[in-house]
Amino acid sequence: MSQNIPVRIEKNLSPESLALIKMAGELAAERRLAIYLVGGVVRDILLGRANSDLDLVVEGNATELAESLAKEIGGRIVVHRRFGTAKIRTENLTIDLAMARAESYARPGALPTVRPGSIQDDLARRDFTVNAMALRLDPGDFGKLVDPFGGQKDLESKLIRILHDRSFIDDATRMLRAVRYEQRFGFRLEASTENLLRQNVTMLRTISGDRVRHELELILKEERPEKALKRAGDLDLLGEVHPALKGDGRLKEIFEKAREAASPPSPALYFALTTNSFSIKECEDFIARLKISRTVSRVILDTARLRERMPSLDSPDLLPSAVHELLREYSPTSVMACAVASDSALVQERLHLYLDRWRHVRTSLDGNALQKLGVPSGPRLGEILKALHEAKLDGKIGSKEDETELVRRWLSQRR
Ligand code: ATP
Ligand code: MG
Repeated sequence: MSQNIPVRIEKNLSPESLALIKMAGELAAERRLAIYLVGGVVRDILLGRANSDLDLVVEGNATELAESLAKEIGGRIVVHRRFGTAKIRTENLTIDLAMARAESYARPGALPTVRPGSIQDDLARRDFTVNAMALRLDPGDFGKLVDPFGGQKDLESKLIRILHDRSFIDDATRMLRAVRYEQRFGFRLEASTENLLRQNVTMLRTISGDRVRHELELILKEERPEKALKRAGDLDLLGEVHPALKGDGRLKEIFEKAREAASPPSPALYFALTTNSFSIKECEDFIARLKISRTVSRVILDTARLRERMPSLDSPDLLPSAVHELLREYSPTSVMACAVASDSALVQERLHLYLDRWRHVRTSLDGNALQKLGVPSGPRLGEILKALHEAKLDGKIGSKEDETELVRRWLSQRR
């Protein structure tokens, strides 16, 4: 199988990526350094799946090599000398280059201490066997697979397996990563990996809010996040993130509806749907624990508040202007979340009409135009503008002429 690898690399990478890794290989060879493609892209090449992130590891000075590479291909480069890493961006590609590192953990959940090491060391600090493979890129050995943990065999057996028994203790984010890959690829957790995960679920408490949130965000970027959430719920991982967090119930149904309504749904929409059954207090705790951004928090809280007002949107005779008045203070994404989660056809229709049409309705006349027609400035002007807007929403008037006529009539009535 391994003799096919150079062919598989050519098949799986874009011509641009291919040219780039060959160039990197040549630059490394000139410096007598070994260079490798590592991590997810190697896994995806072996699986025949697309992946446009290129992660490169160099046994030796990566930043100098990255600078030469950026010059050759004309990309923009950012170097982190302290970490021995660099990122190059071209128009279509992002390439990460790093010096091969060995690492150790001072305490569970802490970020590791790192020092220069070999490719074997670098692979040994990774999460799963299928992510701990490297492909040599320098011309003499192009396409040679480095697979010290049996990743290729686990890919064939469709297994997610950690590299050593302390893996989840060192870094409990790996538990969320494990279910994400398992569900993305339709794999299984290898039996002893699953046992160790079950034994160590409480280690998630050692992880900072930022890191847990980041892993949840990665889950929400999957094609069908509900699968990983369901599995994480079944393994009691979600309960460790927040006691009210559930991966089952209506989640699958409403995530599917969200994808029909918005493709792809924004992270904010998914977050609001994930917390759809939360009380406002639970939302607040969740936001604080995960250090959720202001923008996303607003959507989560708006959704929780708006949900309480859904019954009033279900009454039969409601004019568009009344719906508009009720919804205007809520963020559009929260209105979308409520539409997706509602089981009343009438409510759904109204929320969608609001989002697609009513919230964009503007009167043709503005304050200046009203003053020209003789409306004195003051509170009355605001009232007239609002009344015009409502009349337009409710279809009582359409054109600018209709608006003008209505204003004239109001003025003459007042005299
Ligand atoms: P994806 O397709 O989701 O991007 P990926 O494998 O490229 O998958 P990244 O999150 O981009 O995943 O990380 C790149 C590599 O870094 C992984 O393949 C893995 O080897 C390593 N890695 C990432 N996070 C961890 C972690 N928490 N512990 C150990 N290794 C990790
Ligand atoms: Mg990646």
